[in-house]
Amino acid sequence: MSTEKKTLLVTGGSRGIGAAICRQAVQAGYRVAVNYISNQAAADALVAELKATGGEAFAVKGDVGNEAEVVAMFEAVDRAFGRLDAFVNNAGIVDVKARVDEMSAERVERMMRINVVGSFVCAREAVKRMSTRHGGKGGAIVNLSSAAARLGSPGEYVDYAASKGAIDTLTIGLAREVALEGIRVNAVSPGITETEIHASGGQPDRVARMQDLLPMKRAGTADEVASAVLYLLSDAASYITGAILNVSGGR
Ligand code: NAP
Repeated sequence: MSTEKKTLLVTGGSRGIGAAICRQAVQAGYRVAVNYISNQAAADALVAELKATGGEAFAVKGDVGNEAEVVAMFEAVDRAFGRLDAFVNNAGIVDVKARVDEMSAERVERMMRINVVGSFVCAREAVKRMSTRHGGKGGAIVNLSSAAARLGSPGEYVDYAASKGAIDTLTIGLAREVALEGIRVNAVSPGITETEIHASGGQPDRVARMQDLLPMKRAGTADEVASAVLYLLSDAASYITGAILNVSGGR
């Protein structure tokens, strides 16, 4: 396996925005590790597609909400690629529509474990590999936030919105913490984007229902979000760190 090409790990890379990031990353010349949690068929199909276009890619199973699985996932990337240049904290969940006065502690804890603790533990493993303080060569991290962090998602999922507020703060704090260690940390904050996440939260019609309320009268595409992620990972963004880039069509 060649060693000169940059490498990228994308959590939740098998579907939706993560898959679009993996496709664009291969086009940009990265070797890509595609993380997933349960849908192995989707991950394998994407890897086959990436290889068919001449890319280097492999699938790695792991729950970002499980610390031991996160560590194992990064070790699998070490074995396959021998280096880590870029990391995208993309895996995230929503839950079914509920008001705060209806939310169980278990629901909120699961949301925070996957979306927040998972992002922190993954960022820790990425920094340990990239930081010049740890003998690394630097790198770039992009976190997937959400417009929900600004809007609050009332009556829908304030727990999710709050988890993305934490991602914004992680982005700002970690960016400053590692600014002198060769690592840039930024966030992309999508608005409503056409993926299967809405169906996973019991609202398969969410995009159709909401698009007339959006300034551009349409949802974003996974590719439009991925373009912003690839930009922030790239050297073109060399003086950008701690930024939260809205990709929300003006919402
Ligand atoms: P999606 O279509 O539901 O895809 C989710 C991906 O994450 C899948 O690859 C899934 O793997 C993986 N995943 C789920 N839970 C995981 C876990 N615990 N550990 C590891 N992987 C896990 O989601 P998406 O819409 O592309 O969203 C991607 C990110 O963008 C999320 O952080 C989301 O909050 C954010 N975002 C999305 C929107 C939107 O409207 N779509 C808007 C704002 C922000 P499997 O295939 O194995 O299930």
